Amino acid sequence: MPDLTAAQHVLRTTFGFDAFRPGQAEIVEAVLAGEDVLAVMPTGSGKSLCYQLPALMGDGLTLVVSPLISLMRNQVAQLSAYGIQAASLNSTNDPAENRDILDRIDAGALKLLYIAPERLAKSDTLNRLARAGISLLAVDEAHCISQWGHDFRPEYLTLGTIRQSLPELRIVALTATADKATRADIQEKLFPATPRVFVHGFDRPNLSLAMRAKSSARKQIAAFVKAHRGQSGIVYCNSRRQTEDLAEALTAAGTPTLHYHAGMDPELRNRHQERFLQEDGVVIAATVAFGMGIDKPDVRFVAHAGLPKNIESYYQEIGRAGRDGLPADTLALYGLDDIRLRRTQIEDSDASPEQKRVEKQRLNALVALCEAPRCRRQTLLAYFGETAEPCGNCDLCIDGVEVIDGTIAAQKALSAMVRTGERFGTEHLVNILCGEETEAIAKFGHDRLPTFGVGREHSRNEWRSIFRQLYAAGVISLDIAGYGRWEMTALGRDILKGQAGLELRKDRLRPAREKADRSA
Ligand code: ADP
Ligand code: ZN
Repeated sequence: MPDLTAAQHVLRTTFGFDAFRPGQAEIVEAVLAGEDVLAVMPTGSGKSLCYQLPALMGDGLTLVVSPLISLMRNQVAQLSAYGIQAASLNSTNDPAENRDILDRIDAGALKLLYIAPERLAKSDTLNRLARAGISLLAVDEAHCISQWGHDFRPEYLTLGTIRQSLPELRIVALTATADKATRADIQEKLFPATPRVFVHGFDRPNLSLAMRAKSSARKQIAAFVKAHRGQSGIVYCNSRRQTEDLAEALTAAGTPTLHYHAGMDPELRNRHQERFLQEDGVVIAATVAFGMGIDKPDVRFVAHAGLPKNIESYYQEIGRAGRDGLPADTLALYGLDDIRLRRTQIEDSDASPEQKRVEKQRLNALVALCEAPRCRRQTLLAYFGETAEPCGNCDLCIDGVEVIDGTIAAQKALSAMVRTGERFGTEHLVNILCGEETEAIAKFGHDRLPTFGVGREHSRNEWRSIFRQLYAAGVISLDIAGYGRWEMTALGRDILKGQAGLELRKDRLRPAREKADRSA
C-alpha cells in the first residue's frame, strides 16, 4: 500500500513542492488508507492537492465534482502543466472534444476527470465511468450540497444517489465552510457513514482580535483608525449610508477614507477600489460588497462599525487583514440595535422555518463571541471545530476579563420582565430599572411596580450590556416575532428562584464614559 513517503516523493517530483502544507499530510494519508474524508480548510490552504495526489497514486480514475466550469478548466490546465492526465467533461466542450475524453476514459488513460454533478447523474455516463473503474470521488466546494450553506446548488443533491450505484466508491469532500450546521448537513447528504473529519488552518495568529460594545460607533471607529494612521485598512459598515458618513468623518479627521457600496456609480466605485489597492494609507469604508477577490497583502486593520452577519462573515472579513503574515489589528463593535436588526432580517426573509432557526443559532453564536468571557480566538476556533491555547493576542487575553457575581442584577432584570408580562424590550425595561418617568411608563402604570427604580446602581448603558450578557448566557431569549421583547428561559427561571447564579463581565459594568476613554 502506498504510504506517506511515497506520497512525499510524488509531491516533490510531480508537483515540485518541498513539503506538505499544514493539514495536507494527514488528509492524504487517510485517503490513501481508504477512508472517507471530510476536509474543512480555508481558501488557499491547498485543498486540491489532498485528492490530486492520491489520485495519481491509485489505480483507476478519480472523479472531481466542482460547481463552476471555469474552476474546472483552471485546474485541468494546471494539472496538464504538471504532466498529469486530466480532463473536464462539460457542456461547453464541443462534441468532438467530449468524444475524445470518453475514449481516453475507456482506454484507462485518464487519472482525473472533472465533471459537473448533473452530468455525473446521467446513467449512461455513470455506467461508462463505472466500467472504467472509478477509485475516488472528490467533491470540491462540498458545502454546495447544504441548504444551510451560502451557496446551495440543488444539483449537488444527486451526488448522494451516485453512491448507491457505486457502493465501493471512496469519497473525499472539501470545503472552506466550517460551521457545525453545514458540516453536519454535508455528512448526512453525502456520506453513507460518518467520515473522518479534518478541520485545519483557520487560525490567523498575526491578527489581533478585539470586540467592543458600541457606545458611539463613529467616535470608537475614529479613535481606532487614528491609532493606525498611515496604514491601509477596511471599515465594514452595515449600511450604504454609513459608508458615506464614516468616509466623510474620517477624512475630515485626517485619514483619507473612501466609501464603497453596491449602489454607487460603478466608475466611481472602481476608482475608489483602485486607489485603495494602489496608494498607501488609504482607508475604505465599505459594505460587505467589498473584499471578494481583492488581494491586498498589507491591509493593516479591519474594523466593523456594526455587528457582522455571523461568525463566518466576521472571519472572512477580518481575514482580509494581514495577508502578508505581519501583525494586523481588528476591532468589531456590537450593539443591541444590530442584534435586533439581524433578527428582524432573518424573520422577514423567505427562508424556511428550519433555516431561520439555523440562522438564529448562528446569530446567537456571534453574540456569544462578542460577550465571551475567555480568549476570543479560542471561542472563534472552537466554532470552526479547532482547539487552541489562549492566544495572548486578543483583547480578553491582554486585558483579561474579570467577572463579578451578577446574580442580583440578573434577578432584577428578570423580575422587571416577569412583572411586565415579558412583553417589553430593553429600553423600556431599562427605564423601569433606572426609575425613568417616561410617557410609556406612566401609561402602563409601571412606576407603581416594586421593580421601579431598583437598578439605579447601574447606568443605562450597563443595563443594556447586562441584557446582552443575559442573552449570550441563555438566561433570556428574544421573542420569535422579532419585536425585541425579552422572554425568560428555563435557566432564567432558576436564577430568579435563586437556584442558579450568574457571573457577568465586570468590564462591561463600568460607566459608559470610562469605557469610551479606554477604547481611545
Ligand atoms: P484551496 O482549494 O484550498 O483554495 P488550492 O488547492 O487552490 O487551495 O491551493 C492554493 C495554492 O497553493 C495553489 O497554487 C497550489 O498549487 C499551492 N499549494 C498547494 N499545496 C502546496 C504545497 N504543499 N506546497 C506549496 N504550494 C502548495
Ligand atoms: Zn486570546
